[in-house]
Amino acid sequence: MSVNVASKNSGSPPVFTRKQQPQLVAEKFAACPACGRPGKQNTTRLQVASPRGESSWAKCGDCGAYHLIGEYDCAIEAAHTVQMPWGQLRAGVRLNDFKKRMFNATLAGINKHASDAKTILDVGCSFGGFLLEARRQGYDGSGVDIVPEAVDYVKQQGFAAEECESLENCHLFSEQNPVDVLTVLDAHIYWPNQPAELAAAWRLIRPGGLLVMRVITKSHFVSIGRAIRPIAPKFGKLLIRRSVTDHRFCMPLKSLLHTIEACGFSIESVVPRDAQHSDESSIAVRSLFAIGQLSWKMLRCHLAPGAMIYARKPNA
Ligand SMILES: [Zn+2]
Repeated sequence: MSVNVASKNSGSPPVFTRKQQPQLVAEKFAACPACGRPGKQNTTRLQVASPRGESSWAKCGDCGAYHLIGEYDCAIEAAHTVQMPWGQLRAGVRLNDFKKRMFNATLAGINKHASDAKTILDVGCSFGGFLLEARRQGYDGSGVDIVPEAVDYVKQQGFAAEECESLENCHLFSEQNPVDVLTVLDAHIYWPNQPAELAAAWRLIRPGGLLVMRVITKSHFVSIGRAIRPIAPKFGKLLIRRSVTDHRFCMPLKSLLHTIEACGFSIESVVPRDAQHSDESSIAVRSLFAIGQLSWKMLRCHLAPGAMIYARKPNA
């Protein structure tokens, strides 16, 4: 599996397919599900304690991403998600309120980069918090998620929605009926294969349309946790656990930007501050975003725990 950089400006879809990944997982040096490059001997293996339990992870020697090792099973992933707040109705609706700052920053970014956009597909829509805000601002929103209860709830709110294991199986939009804006807010860390899902997203977005991703990029904290673990084991382990939480992968921002570009998109802007969920977030989180915004703007050095990426599918 390789990254078809040549397709970037050619108008043809990228080459990744999700089906290529599972059989590779069992191989000694599996292809990296974060950047798509073939596995090499410089892939590092490690054990990570997370809400998923003690699990085996690898660090890609090419892109620096940490990722969970193992086959992806959507039913197991959905069963895991309903144990988390964003997979449960009451807690999910509370989260919608908590994340309003981020939702409105996203909509302001969409208006800035695509003022003529009308349709939005929200991937990993949960209980529709972003879709409701988007509707208030005049957008026609649709959503996909892997949790049936979340999809039912979103449908009850009057949105088109679909249970969807992969964007490759999405029926709400297509190359013949593309969407103006595809948003992925706090969802890409659960994708089993970043390049394959980005390639599928590329096909669903209209030429000139936008891909907007709230990405969680804490791999630098995992690396710090690993470095201090020999001298402060408890703190090192805690830092890794808090960085990974229940995610399936953890990628440096610059590597992720490269993967998005390799999948055919051009990066319009990266705004760490837009990724802050709430003004009620803890002071530590708010400080990290404030410092991260400054360091990215001035030095292109990414220190924040996340960022908002606005990327465009070039006109054919
Ligand atoms: Zn990689």
